[in-house]
Amino acid sequence: MKTFKYAIAGGGMVAGYAGKELVEHGLKPGDLCILSADDALPYERPPLSKGFLAGKDTEDSIQINPEEFYAAHEIDVRLQSPIAAVDASAKTVHLQSGDEIGYEKLLLATGSQVRKLDVIGADLAGVCYLRSLDDCKRIQRLAASAKQAAVIGGGFIGMEVASVLAQKGIRVTMILREDRIWKQFFTPAMSGYFENYYTARDVRFIKEAELAELRGEGDVRSILLKSGDSVPCDLVVAGIGVRPATEIFAKSGLDVSDGVIVDDHLQSSLPDVYAAGDIANYPDNLFGKRRRVEHWDNAVSQGQHCARALTGDRAPFIHVPYFFSDVFDLSYEFWGDTSTSDSIVERGDIGSNSFSIWWLVHDRVVAAFVMNRSDEEREAAPRWIQARQKVDAKRLRSADSIAI
Ligand code: NAP
Repeated sequence: MKTFKYAIAGGGMVAGYAGKELVEHGLKPGDLCILSADDALPYERPPLSKGFLAGKDTEDSIQINPEEFYAAHEIDVRLQSPIAAVDASAKTVHLQSGDEIGYEKLLLATGSQVRKLDVIGADLAGVCYLRSLDDCKRIQRLAASAKQAAVIGGGFIGMEVASVLAQKGIRVTMILREDRIWKQFFTPAMSGYFENYYTARDVRFIKEAELAELRGEGDVRSILLKSGDSVPCDLVVAGIGVRPATEIFAKSGLDVSDGVIVDDHLQSSLPDVYAAGDIANYPDNLFGKRRRVEHWDNAVSQGQHCARALTGDRAPFIHVPYFFSDVFDLSYEFWGDTSTSDSIVERGDIGSNSFSIWWLVHDRVVAAFVMNRSDEEREAAPRWIQARQKVDAKRLRSADSIAI
């Protein structure tokens, strides 16, 4: 069995960015092993539901580090090597293949697994999920001949995939459980804005809908809803959320509860074992609560942070949660956490494609959504959230400049 100074369990975005950061901190040749279940080197995941799915990006352009990077630093990347278990007392990772590797320090970054539909017909051909590059290529292949697509779920994947498929000329129906798009995150005005934007681009919505059955012979041909309505389709993409991929740690002795419990250095309950990305359940000291974040920015910043921690840096992880999304010709960004907000301020005109939404708690900024606004607003958002900036709501709503 070969033993490495550092091992990363999981070959996604955390691995790509942690590897890069380790190299920048003087990684010695042969010191790092990356164990990946995927068959591709670490790649950026955001383009899979945006530019890559649309055919604008290539496999090379979405790689986090070029192939030569791994060879140049003698990083041992083992693709198609899913992990079976971690034995923390022996400092060993067991692979499903029967192989094992030893580590001095281990970074857990196994990411998420998609939730799957649990209805009759869910195994028909043409029913897709989007997580990996292979998933994305499969949707691309099917989309090339599809005429009518049903998109299940109105979260990130649902909104982004529906916009790409509609732009390919496919008739798209979004099937939502809720009475408006992305109810968990958008304000009613924001849902209304995006629904109008999508409807104007030929996306149809069926709301408050529950699936009864997917129908077809071999290939999916329609969705039967519990209302009795039938939605014809030759492609189904379900984006109904993910769950952290932590089953393999069940017998490892790790503290696991909605992800791997880590401290504010992203260190797990076991010595020399860290966790980052979708699986890391970490104390967010800015908001005074534990959270898991399933976004690109979190994988990048925690991957980089853990790489520094592996090399001995003891800084705590302090970070304003952030994500971005692109739908049709719109791009928006979001910072913070809306869950405790007691008031909301809108700037700009919802309907004009240029607006921002500010969530406040006792007049202090806790979250912001910004679309097509000035750099001043983009820059203020994370800064104000980190500083819990107190604002005058009336002025924030109407002043031309938000400078304080
Ligand atoms: P998501 O954002 O959590 O949204 C899931 C959606 O599916 C919600 O609208 C939810 O509605 C609905 N849903 C859940 N169970 C359902 C069911 N059984 N039937 C019908 N609808 C159901 O998850 P996602 O869109 O699948 O995205 C997966 C992951 O990829 C997330 O972690 C996300 O962060 C990440 N991602 C991020 C980006 C980005 O940052 N731009 C882009 C793509 C993907 P309810 O409200 O009714 O539960």
